[in-house]
Formats: sequence, C-alpha cells, structure tokens
Amino acid sequence: MMLNKELEVTLNKAGDSQLKIKPDQNKLGFGVHFTDHMFVMHWNHEQGWHNAEICAYQNFSLDPAAMVFHYGQEIFEGLKAYRGADNQILLFRPMDNLNRMNNSALRLCMPRMPMKEVLKAMKALIYLDREWVPGNEGATLYIRPTMIATEPALGLKPSSQYTFFIIMSPVGAYYAEGFNPVRIYVEETYVRAVAGGVGEAKTGGNYAASVKALTEAQQKGYAQVLWLDAVERKYVEEVGTSNIFFVIDDQLITPPLSGTILPGITRDSVLQLARDLGIKTLERKITIDEVFQAWENGSLKEVFSTGTAAVISPVGELCYRNQVISINDNKPGELSTMFFNELQALQRGQREDKHNWLVRVA
Ligand SMILES: *Cc1c(COP(=O)(O)O)cnc(C)c1O
Repeated sequence: MMLNKELEVTLNKAGDSQLKIKPDQNKLGFGVHFTDHMFVMHWNHEQGWHNAEICAYQNFSLDPAAMVFHYGQEIFEGLKAYRGADNQILLFRPMDNLNRMNNSALRLCMPRMPMKEVLKAMKALIYLDREWVPGNEGATLYIRPTMIATEPALGLKPSSQYTFFIIMSPVGAYYAEGFNPVRIYVEETYVRAVAGGVGEAKTGGNYAASVKALTEAQQKGYAQVLWLDAVERKYVEEVGTSNIFFVIDDQLITPPLSGTILPGITRDSVLQLARDLGIKTLERKITIDEVFQAWENGSLKEVFSTGTAAVISPVGELCYRNQVISINDNKPGELSTMFFNELQALQRGQREDKHNWLVRVA
C-alpha cells in the first residue's frame, strides 16, 4: 500500500450555479443539509490512493455491481467542527477518528488511508465551506468520512477498488428542547455484536442490523435500546450508537473495550476528564442485574451515554423484562451535567486544552 507517497489534492471549486442556499440556522436538524463541497479520492492496487480532489458536492456514478451494494464492504466515521471564540473553527481529536477508521479498514480488508494527509484535506475542505459552520449555540458542522468498495464484481472477495469521501452537514443543537433524560429499553431478543465479529468497527452492517430493535423499542415508547452481550445476554454493552456509563456510589463504571463495542472517542474523553478530576473510574464488565440491584439498594446514582452527536445523553428510565426503573428521579445527574458542560466548553476552546485534543482549522 502506498501510504508514504505525498497525496496531491486538486481543488475544483463549485461554480456559482452549484452553490446552495444555506438552511435556516435554527432549523438544521441532523444530517439533512449538506455543504457545497466534498472530498473524494480513489484506490486501486496499481496506484494506491489517487485522483484526490475537493469538488462540488455531487452524485456518484457507480456500477450496479459495485461490491458495496451487495456485500456491504463499507466503513465510516463521525466527527464535528465547532465554532469557538473569535470565530475560530476547531476539530476535536480528529486523528483519533482517522486512526479508528484505519482500524475499521483493517477489519473489513479495506486499504488504510494516509491520516496526516487526509486531515490536511479535511481542514482544507472545512475552510472552503467555513461559512457552513453554524455560529448559533450548540450547532456544529458534522463531518462524515466514508469508504466504499467499488469494484464491479459479484464473487465474494475483498474489492480491488475503493472510493473514500468526506461530506459535511450543518447540524442543530442536539438538546434544542433542553438537556433531558431519555427512556431506554434493555434489548433481550436482538443482539448487536459477537466476539470475533465486527462490533468494534464502524461499518454500515452493524447499523443495518440494529434498526429492527430500534424501531420496536420506539414503538414501545423508548428512544434507544441498551444492548446486552450476545452470548449470555446479561452483560451491558452499549446504548444504540453510544457508549454507556453508570455511576454507582462514587465510582464511574463503563464496559471494557473487549471487541464487541465501539471504542468511542467521547467515552475515552470522559474517562480522561474523570481521572483528571480524581473520580474513580472502572472499565469492567457489568451485568444488567447488577445495575438493577444497585438501583434497588440506592447506590445507582446516574446512567448516561456518550457519543459525538449528543456528547452526553442522560438516561432517565430503563426498562428490563417487566421492570421499569427511574434513575435520579428522571433528572440529569450531577456528573452527566458536568461532563456535558466541560466537554462542550473544551470542544469550543473555552477550557485549557491539557491533552492537546483540539486542532484548529481557522
Ligand atoms: C460512533 C459510535 C459510538 C461513539 O463513538 P464516538 O467516537 O464517541 O462518537 C459508540 N457506539 C457506536 C456503536 C458507534 O457507532
């Protein structure tokens, strides 16, 4: 793989007629509007990564036999650009996202990309579309790097051709209605991932496989499912597309990265912030029974999930079998609120960046 060759990126700016009318900043929603430009590059064995360009946001032309359509060889990432003081634009731990994407690539037999050069291209893309980075409270620019298998062939094998692209979407404040706890359904029928599977890779198939559980939970009035381990259906794994934390007595507990859960960057940031503050953190297996017992004996103080989209999402209610428990009187807990405020402030450059997590775009 040609990881060391300098990647040349061509700039083909969108023409005036291709520029879009920007949406109302107060009605952005999530992932429905896309910026004027995108980044695209291609890979094959002979050339490695080539034909890299920043161009107008546009449709792809793909052969109907392209392997991604049939066997789902696809990986993606999700990160955000934040507007800080003095109109600066900041990225939060972007190299961690690119590194995780390269790990996903290995698992899916896809080529790795040159991280530093892709970061450089990402920054150039954001700078070009900088007017799309929302300035209103809580709103951000969501960035979606993606890689797909494009070889037209139906025989099962790793594709010999790939396309990598980055698209960007201005997204509204996740908590437009307030930082409110959500109701979570503990899933016993369906599972998300098995050891040895692709649970720790950010690959489309994991999400396709999860939507049935999500829709059934939503029909019952829950916002998300809490996944249990696929073998014994007793250990807690994660919530929907977020990692999960429990505050029991004065300990912050989260399941370990054992191969079946996604190694969240928000998860890692919360663990680091907690250690900085002298909070006891434990990455260990925890059963759903232990969570319910802790609730019964009064030691379960808070439950919250972590992910780039919402940063922190407090859990107000858990339904397991026929028991529904209400956590912290269905109000956001002290630690959930503190981590939410601290991370949000950090991401906007309003805190000392002790761990060098911020990358400045402009
Ligand atoms: C992306 C994702 C997360 C959260 O990762 P972050 O890096 O914190 O955004 C957690 N679980 C799943 C299944 C995910 O896809």
